[in-house]
Amino acid sequence: MLGRSILVLTLIVGAAGLVCGPAHRLALAQESSGARSDGKKLPRVLVLATGGTIAGKASDTSAIGYTAGQVTGEDLIAAVPGIEELATLSTDQISNIGSQDMNDEVWLKLHARITKAFEDDEADGIVVTHGTDTLEETAFFLEQVLPTDKPVVVVGSMRPSTAISADGPANLYDAVKVAGHPDSQGRGVLVVMNDVIHETRDVTKTNTTSLQTFRSPNAGPAGYVDPASVQFIHRAAEYPRPRFEVPAKAPMSRVDIIYSHSNMTADLANASVKGGAKGIVLAGVGDGNTSEVVLDALAKAAKKGVLVVRSTRVGRGFTKRNAEVDDDKMGFAASLDLSPQKSRILLQLQIANGVTDIETVQEGMALR
Ligand code: ASP
Repeated sequence: MLGRSILVLTLIVGAAGLVCGPAHRLALAQESSGARSDGKKLPRVLVLATGGTIAGKASDTSAIGYTAGQVTGEDLIAAVPGIEELATLSTDQISNIGSQDMNDEVWLKLHARITKAFEDDEADGIVVTHGTDTLEETAFFLEQVLPTDKPVVVVGSMRPSTAISADGPANLYDAVKVAGHPDSQGRGVLVVMNDVIHETRDVTKTNTTSLQTFRSPNAGPAGYVDPASVQFIHRAAEYPRPRFEVPAKAPMSRVDIIYSHSNMTADLANASVKGGAKGIVLAGVGDGNTSEVVLDALAKAAKKGVLVVRSTRVGRGFTKRNAEVDDDKMGFAASLDLSPQKSRILLQLQIANGVTDIETVQEGMALR
């Protein structure tokens, strides 16, 4: 059962795993008192559930196999003792999918729901529960398109809700604490996992199964959270948000990632161009390198107007312009500290916002 101060909205999840709209919202559980037991006013936090392992179930607590996206946002909140002392909570189910199936449609729904919640002054902060496989991508997308300075925290878990020592409840507790905390204002979208707070540009999943999988390899963590405190390392960086208009409808333009390796042929690059990609991101070896034949194919693509960004498959460091590859001559941009998967999203948003030249693409890669 939920605690007294929890206000819960439940949505019917559609056949495709997507919610159809506010008309499908079911009855509320309980009105919130809006105050902690010591009388202090609680922040209002809206939890938007999208699925993932945090909402996953296994038939056996020791089984390695499980199905992501099985329990609702309401169930997730109900499993966290003491969470009602942190915030007045409400929840909406945006989707219930494994994040390997995350897509532009759900991103646009999330963007619309978050924007509405802040415009209607429905919440002081928002938590998005999400699968960990593409969590960093959704967080990065939202960071680029949300206008608000109010906190949006994306959270997941590595173990399903039925596991021994499931990490979901503690992560959700931490996320609600960060979303409702005054020091989180003006920091845009944050990721909270395993007691660590990350910014969206750098954070990445670094281990397939470990609880301490999310790291920010170049920048380091933004802060730490535990049941007693929220501690940021730096002051909030001030820059105008949103950086991009959200596209009117899904899907965004096709931007492919091509993963480089030894013995690399030009087949994938050529197939990508033939398939209609408007942009290509190279997950290059080392400092964004690839074989001569792929460089030639990409240079030809760039001449035809395909926007080409060189990034790296190495998990750390910067992909710099004009190091071993002559970007000026070939018409490429370099991703700097952005991973291939984040470069891809940035390029998609740039294209959706009318960017057609590689110089502007390059400038966008540099914006922190
Ligand atoms: N495949 C799952 C997902 O991304 C993994 C997880 O959530 O940890 O939804």
